[in-house]
Amino acid sequence: RTMQKKKILLLTTGGTIASKPGGEGLEPHRSEVMERELEQLRTYYDITTRDVLCLDSSNIRPQEWQLIARAIFELRGDYDGIVVSHGTDTMAYTASAVTFMLPDIDLPVVFTGSQLPLADVLSDGPDNLRTAFAMAATGKPGVFLAFDRKVMLGCRGVKVRATGFSAFESVNARYAAQITGLGLTVDERVIPRVKGPARLMEGISSDVFLLKLTPGLSPKIFDALVGMGYKGIVIEAFGLGGVNVLNEGLDGIRAAIDAGISVVVTTQCLYDSSNLQVYQVGNRLLELGVI
Ligand code: ASP
Repeated sequence: RTMQKKKILLLTTGGTIASKPGGEGLEPHRSEVMERELEQLRTYYDITTRDVLCLDSSNIRPQEWQLIARAIFELRGDYDGIVVSHGTDTMAYTASAVTFMLPDIDLPVVFTGSQLPLADVLSDGPDNLRTAFAMAATGKPGVFLAFDRKVMLGCRGVKVRATGFSAFESVNARYAAQITGLGLTVDERVIPRVKGPARLMEGISSDVFLLKLTPGLSPKIFDALVGMGYKGIVIEAFGLGGVNVLNEGLDGIRAAIDAGISVVVTTQCLYDSSNLQVYQVGNRLLELGVI
């Protein structure tokens, strides 16, 4: 019995995986440079490619997230799953943003890339593409990130290595799937539940500033951010959410809140989460009205 091949759409956006050396270093190319690898995968999948962008992912901005999310939303009807090839540097940002832009997405959307170009004989790209295609063929709905034989939720992936092949980690969440001697094993507990028809939420505000707290930071920074017209400030505070409350430490945050800006306090630790109710410094923040 011959199994019907799954129809997979590959949306390319550039990145190292599709790069070749140019005059000034690695430059991204269109999907032609991926053809040799895709030819092998065509034995298993019915693949259509579409070049959405051709960028080093350092150049990807919210406008580009909108292009990618729109392409996924509009083209998805004809496919069993979608793979998005993307530079690794900002892949976690794009995968996270696209997760929130496509609530109740009804098919697998799997981001992947590589640390070494496909053009390099030692590339991790073939492995990563294979993992991504296998996940896309499962039909499990959600936005995922596939790398180094692991699949994680797109909104949980963080780039943790600049050169190592295990470049992404799933923070505070189990892997959605892993490749072992049993093949691709999906953890059903991690797969998002679809609660209604798929939607495209394109609206994005870029007026949010991420502030990493450092000891001795000048509170004047908040005046500058208010002056620049930011609507939201996310503070990556210490540990459980500690901020310097002595001296004039809280004045800037108070002024930002008084100016109508949403101030969100989180932790700069990679794992676990903030809890402002444990320490006096945290409770002082809550009294000011931070989120
Ligand atoms: N600079 C590259 C990019 O993000 C790095 C990579 O793809 O691994 O496009």
